Amino acid sequence: MIVTAGGIGADHDAVRRNWPARLGSAPKRMITGVPAHVDGRMLAITEGAGGRVVNRDRMWHYTEGIQNWDPVWDRHGIRILPGPSSLWLDARGTRFPAPNFPGFDTLGTLGAIGATGYDYSWLLLTQRIIEKEFALSGSEQNPDLTGKDTRLMLARVRAGAPGPVEAFKRDGVDFVVADTLAELVEGMNKLTDEPLLDLAHIERQVVARDREMDNPFTKDLQVMAIHNARRTLGDRIARTAVPHKILDPKAGPLIAVRLNILTRKTLGGLQTDLSGRVLGGDGAPIDGLYAAGEVAGFGGGGVHGYRSLEGTFLGGCLFSGRAAGRAAAAQAG
Ligand SMILES: Cc1cc2nc3c(=O)[nH]c(=O)nc-3n(C[C@H](O)[C@H](O)[C@H](O)COP(=O)(O)OP(=O)(O)OC[C@H]3O[C@@H](n4cnc5c(N)ncnc54)[C@H](O)[C@@H]3O)c2cc1C
Repeated sequence: MIVTAGGIGADHDAVRRNWPARLGSAPKRMITGVPAHVDGRMLAITEGAGGRVVNRDRMWHYTEGIQNWDPVWDRHGIRILPGPSSLWLDARGTRFPAPNFPGFDTLGTLGAIGATGYDYSWLLLTQRIIEKEFALSGSEQNPDLTGKDTRLMLARVRAGAPGPVEAFKRDGVDFVVADTLAELVEGMNKLTDEPLLDLAHIERQVVARDREMDNPFTKDLQVMAIHNARRTLGDRIARTAVPHKILDPKAGPLIAVRLNILTRKTLGGLQTDLSGRVLGGDGAPIDGLYAAGEVAGFGGGGVHGYRSLEGTFLGGCLFSGRAAGRAAAAQAG
C-alpha cells in the first residue's frame, strides 16, 4: 500500500496544534489555500498503524492570502504573488522592517506577523502598482496560462490589471479602494473588529517613503529593491511598476488589501527510507507500507529543505512517488 493523501492544510486545528513556537503564536483565524481533501486524515490513520511522523512543525503558509469572492472550497483563500512596490503594514499600521517586503521572505514575514500578536497585515498601494505587480496563485486565477491563451497572456503587459485581479479588487472583501488616504484608512478600519489604524501614523510613513522617490541615493531598502528589480528586463516589463509616489493622484486610486494567513504546504510527515518505505517507531520499515508526496514530508523531511525555493515542492512529491512506486512494484514482483 502506498499512502499519497497529501498534507494537513485544510484542517486548521491540526495546523494550530503543530504551529512552531519560532513563528510566534498560532493564528486564530486563517483561510484555506488547499482543497478540502488535504485534511491529514490518512496521516493520522497511518500513524495509528505504527508509522512514525517527523518534523510536524514544519509547514509553509503564505502571508498574502485574500478571501476568494468565488470560492471553490470552504474558506477558500488565494495567494497574491506581489511585486516589490506596495507598502506592507502590520495590523496597527506600522511598516514592517527590512527584509519583510512583498514577495521577499515568506517564512520570515510569517514570523514577523506572528510577533505582532495579530493574524493579519495590510498592503497599501496604488492602481498603478496593482496593474503591474499583482499575480494570483491557482489555476482558475490564471486562465491565460492554463488555457495556453496567448491573447489573454498579452494582457499582462498591457495597461490595466488582469481580469481576475480586477475582479478581486471589485468583489473581494479584503479590498478597500479610495481617492484619499483618509478615506482609505477609514475603510480599512471598518474591515476589522477593532479600528486599530491611525491616519496620521500611516500618513507619516507614506510621505517618508514617497520622499525617497526623489532621492537618487536613497537608503530606503525597499525603494532600492524596486530600482534593482527594474534592472532585469522581465521584471521591468511585467512585474515592477515604474517607481512613483503612492500619494501621486495620477497613480490612483489608492488601494489597501487586508492580508490573511493562508494555509498551504506540509513539510513534515511520515518518515520513510529512500525507497519510500514507511518507518515505524523503532526505525525499521513497516512491511508493505509506502508513502510519498506531501504526506511523507516530500520523502521524510523535505527534499529541498525547510526554506525551499517557491515552486520546488511538487518536484519532491513526484520524485518520492517514483521511488515509492518502483520499490512497491519490485516488492510485488
Ligand atoms: C493552489 C496551489 C498552488 C500550488 N502551487 C505550487 C507550485 O507552484 N509549485 C509547487 O511545487 N507546488 C505547488 N503547490 C503544492 C503542490 O501542489 C502539492 O505539494 C502537491 O500537489 C502535493 O502532491 P500530493 O500528491 O502529495 O498530494 P495531493 O496533490 O494533495 O493529492 C492527494 C490525493 O489524495 C486524495 N486523498 C486524500 N485523502 C484521501 C483518502 N482518505 N482516501 C482516498 N484518497 C484521498 C485526494 O483526493 C488527492 O487526489 C500548490 C498547491 C496549491 C493548493
